[in-house]
Amino acid sequence: MITEQDTLLKEKLKEVFGYSQFRGNQESIIQSISADHNTFVIMPTGAGKSLCYQLPAVMKPGTAIVISPLIALMKNQVDQLNVLNVKAQFLNSTLSKAEITKVRRDVLSGETKLLYVAPESLTKEENIAFLQKANISFVAIDEAHCISEWGHDFRPEYRKIKTIIDNLGNLPIIALTATATPKVQTDIQRNLQMEEAALYKSSFNRKNLYYEIRPKIDTKKQLIKYVKAHKGKSGIVYCLSRKKVEEIAQLLLVNDIKALPYHAGLDSHIRMANQDAFLNEDVDVIVATIAFGMGIDKPDVRFVIHYDTPKSLEGYYQETGRAGRDGLEGNCVMFYSYDDIIKLDKFNKDKQVTERENAKHLLQEMASYAESSVCRRRQLLHYFGEHVNQDCGFCDNCLKPREKFEAQEHVMMAIQAALQTNQRFDMAHLSDVLRGLENQYVISYGHNKLPIYGKGAAKDGAYWNSVIRQILLHDFLEKDIENYGVLKVSEKGMDFTENPYPVTLARDHDFSTAADDEDNENDPSGHPAGKACDPVLFELLKALQRKVAKEKKLPPYAVFQEPSLEEMATTYPTSKEDLSRINGVGMGKVEKFGRPFIELIGKYVDENDIATATEVVVKSTANKSKAKISIIQQIDRKVNLEDITEALDLSMADLIREIEHICYSGTRLNLDYYIDNLMDEERQDEIYDYFMTAETDNIQAAVQMLGDDYSEEELRLIRIKFLSEVAN
Ligand code: ADP
Ligand code: ZN
Repeated sequence: MITEQDTLLKEKLKEVFGYSQFRGNQESIIQSISADHNTFVIMPTGAGKSLCYQLPAVMKPGTAIVISPLIALMKNQVDQLNVLNVKAQFLNSTLSKAEITKVRRDVLSGETKLLYVAPESLTKEENIAFLQKANISFVAIDEAHCISEWGHDFRPEYRKIKTIIDNLGNLPIIALTATATPKVQTDIQRNLQMEEAALYKSSFNRKNLYYEIRPKIDTKKQLIKYVKAHKGKSGIVYCLSRKKVEEIAQLLLVNDIKALPYHAGLDSHIRMANQDAFLNEDVDVIVATIAFGMGIDKPDVRFVIHYDTPKSLEGYYQETGRAGRDGLEGNCVMFYSYDDIIKLDKFNKDKQVTERENAKHLLQEMASYAESSVCRRRQLLHYFGEHVNQDCGFCDNCLKPREKFEAQEHVMMAIQAALQTNQRFDMAHLSDVLRGLENQYVISYGHNKLPIYGKGAAKDGAYWNSVIRQILLHDFLEKDIENYGVLKVSEKGMDFTENPYPVTLARDHDFSTAADDEDNENDPSGHPAGKACDPVLFELLKALQRKVAKEKKLPPYAVFQEPSLEEMATTYPTSKEDLSRINGVGMGKVEKFGRPFIELIGKYVDENDIATATEVVVKSTANKSKAKISIIQQIDRKVNLEDITEALDLSMADLIREIEHICYSGTRLNLDYYIDNLMDEERQDEIYDYFMTAETDNIQAAVQMLGDDYSEEELRLIRIKFLSEVAN
């Protein structure tokens, strides 16, 4: 039956916001708060929470207070509402005295429909006094999970909100959040004293998202390969630190991927410009800390990559949620290593005890999610309190199932462990009891005297944790809402103890080797360590190098250096562009010597049916550091080397080493202006001729031959001149 109220809501929806339909639960939610019922909304990001309080605020007499923790988003929302001709304002620490006075006047006159307030401002005496005089329609609490210290984003000032609202009269409350585990949900309702509230919980299932976890090995290479395979598509790469964001953005850039960084340490106008470049698709990839993405509504983000392991499943869910908002393709890949978990745990060491313990729990949940081989979607939904009986068939674990094992006996043991300890303990303790450990807790509770004690000693802690997690997921056990971490036996579990039946569980992934060896990856030469080098092709290339050298009357190393040949035999470049991407090869070298090499490799690839597109060379950022770029520019401007050393605070030896690096990576440098001043032509020629005929460009060999007459610095400078002129 359609009532008058329904029609009115629809009309307003169209008139004010321009939409013709409500989405999901929006209509019922709006009816609930409009009827002054306390209302609790749990809805994933992007599903349309704002409308749930904006529309009733417009329709009700008076001003609605919206409490929101993020000042930046507040301004956005207010701007958007003003565009729609809805009078909205905000009250926070960024306003001047005069602006505050104006806001107060407008609210008291009843003109303002929505007043956004930061929780800090709400607690101020003068603001409370003023709000008591205003006609308030209801209070909306956005990001309500900030109330709970059991969640991932606790804000102490949020816990005071209820007391303040009570001071303003008997106002209906609508609380909204995009993430809430069942524990957090009860915590919010209890704190706001709205246990009786109408609850609207949407499904958290994002059907179009593909979840995948990969071991954090060779991560840079995996990343570049992945992004290149999704060329031209929009993606976000999340890193934990600003430094990492900068580094990875650089890495993508030197590997010909259009990418920009985003983090709170950037100048605000640069940050905005980078964000806009991503929104307008001037760049494909934004590399960001989690500061990026809130309030951003780009529908066609095709991949979200977690380069580092996130701090909580809540964060992971929100960040991955930015992929595929339009319901089309959305790929979520996370790189995981337990080292990340340990690192993150260390960051928490300065926190207060309870906060630290909670953060640890969240991290443990993250680790189990990553290491488990159970359907990802099922795990995520279970975490947010949704029980599904089926695997999704579409995540990495579903598509590549791990080994399964029959676990009836062990399921029984785990349930017995919970029962015999009176259902008052957490996973770690149950696992200790099963394994027969003699720690302080086990002894003090007398659990070493239980029949189940030590019955599972044949298996280790990781095994029992995995079994317990999986039977939680299968609803044999359930989490106790009242006591964080405590596991109880469910009805299904009780039935099982009476009538046991076979249960199949899946073996966890083994990520123990997944420690990202960043030092190794950062090898400035960027060589793929010769590990995948094709020895046959390498010999062919070497023969060609010698032949070309002979024809051109040059030493072989001046044509291509051996590491470059090795890389060619690894990555099979078959075009000028590909070849120029090899470390030590610039376009100059490609033009000079490249053609026969490209032909040789092309022929070899054809004859041997080699798929070349799958291999990726990672050009290291180390070759193009800021210092190097600055050196190249200064040499172009013929700045004296002594002046460069001063400007960059380098020793002359360091500067020459940098210049050598530049030269060996294929860039041509003209140092004549400096060398001509340093030594006469005759001396130059003698060294030059030496390098022309030498077997090797090794500097020690040169010192042995010429060291009596020339300094090492002179030898090095001429070697640079020689290589620049004949090789680059
Ligand atoms: P949330 O706060 O839940 O993350 P928003 O309130 O920002 O989500 O809404 C997400 C997007 O959905 C916004 O662009 C909003 O304009 C749009 N939207 C919300 N409700 C509707 C609707 N009924 N019809 C069409 N678009 C809607
Ligand atoms: Zn699945």
